[in-house]
Amino acid sequence: MRQKGAVGWFKHDITHRGITAWILFVLLALMYFFFYYGGRTLFGAPIPDPFTPIAQGLGMPHKWTFYGLLYTIAVVAGGVLMFRRYGHNRYQVVRTSVVIFVQVTLAFAVPWILLIFEQPEFYFSYLWPLQIEYFYPSTILEMPLPFLLYSLIGSLLIVPLLGVFYGKRWYCSWVCGCGGLANTAGEPFRHLSTKSSASWLFEKWSVHLTLLLALLVTALVVASWAVGQHYPRFEETAVSLQSFYGLIVVTMLSGIIGVVVYPIGGTRVWCRFFCPMAALLGLIQKFGRFRITVKDDMCISCGLCTKYCEMGIDVRAYAQKNQDFVRASCVGCGLCAEVCPRGVLRLENRMPRDPQETLTMSSLLSRSYQ
Ligand code: SF4
Ligand code: SF4
Repeated sequence: MRQKGAVGWFKHDITHRGITAWILFVLLALMYFFFYYGGRTLFGAPIPDPFTPIAQGLGMPHKWTFYGLLYTIAVVAGGVLMFRRYGHNRYQVVRTSVVIFVQVTLAFAVPWILLIFEQPEFYFSYLWPLQIEYFYPSTILEMPLPFLLYSLIGSLLIVPLLGVFYGKRWYCSWVCGCGGLANTAGEPFRHLSTKSSASWLFEKWSVHLTLLLALLVTALVVASWAVGQHYPRFEETAVSLQSFYGLIVVTMLSGIIGVVVYPIGGTRVWCRFFCPMAALLGLIQKFGRFRITVKDDMCISCGLCTKYCEMGIDVRAYAQKNQDFVRASCVGCGLCAEVCPRGVLRLENRMPRDPQETLTMSSLLSRSYQ
């Protein structure tokens, strides 16, 4: 319900694409512009770099550590909001606690500590294909052996295996910093995600094409490292594609668009439309154990589940049809189950091959969260 007074107006305005939401959008865009392009030149004019002096003043190695600090503060502050809103829901409390822990330690403190001890900066919470350069030979050759083993085993074994058992939620909603920010600081904007069928069509193409591109770029960069000196044109192509991927996918889509559009387009724009890790885990999820189950004939069609699904899934349509579902894009945030006034939805990990098997194995395989 909308609160009265100036605070009520502000809360409603900023979360419903009002003037304050657009102001926030512009401020975020400016912040990212100066982070990425500060200190460079544009059309011959130097762009101010306000963040490097701040980072130096705080004793940080570079401005991206300061960015990490801001990001971490946003996740912690948003996490407190989550605790206040959903403190009664064990799944949300545990999930948010893990998200905060991962951000504070693996995504912020550990990389900084590594730099202090003159080790390569390494983010244990990110893996290939999200962190595509972890499979580039130039990065691999600089990695200490334990980091390399972690990266290879994590990307090629742990990610798919946990995907089979728990769906993409174990990574997208518990570990990844992009999802972490979306589900903490971005929480007030989750209902803004587009639910149109056109966006779903776009999502199916865009996210899988990004995954294909990530695979192609990785393969070309590795091949170019192996044989590129004999084929200069091939090496040039690989370098161009690598730069294209770095600029468009990593910088523009993941780094900038993914966060800047929160106040007007909702959270998870990057995760939903472009993240190669989400695409990979989504494909695995379709054949794995994770699903959302629906209690028969309980839905009153209020539409809250659909409204608050940050991935734009029409959850109500499944609930109305009494149909359990597995959607590749579902990140298992659990908010559809949380907001449902009738307790219709449950997030479960199970593999119902036939009704008989489901009956006998359900107590062993089911792990439900609401
Ligand atoms: S369907 Fe439910 S659990 Fe899945 S992303 Fe949407 S709100 Fe989250
Ligand atoms: S929130 Fe619950 S009752 Fe409302 S439409 Fe969704 S499943 Fe049905």
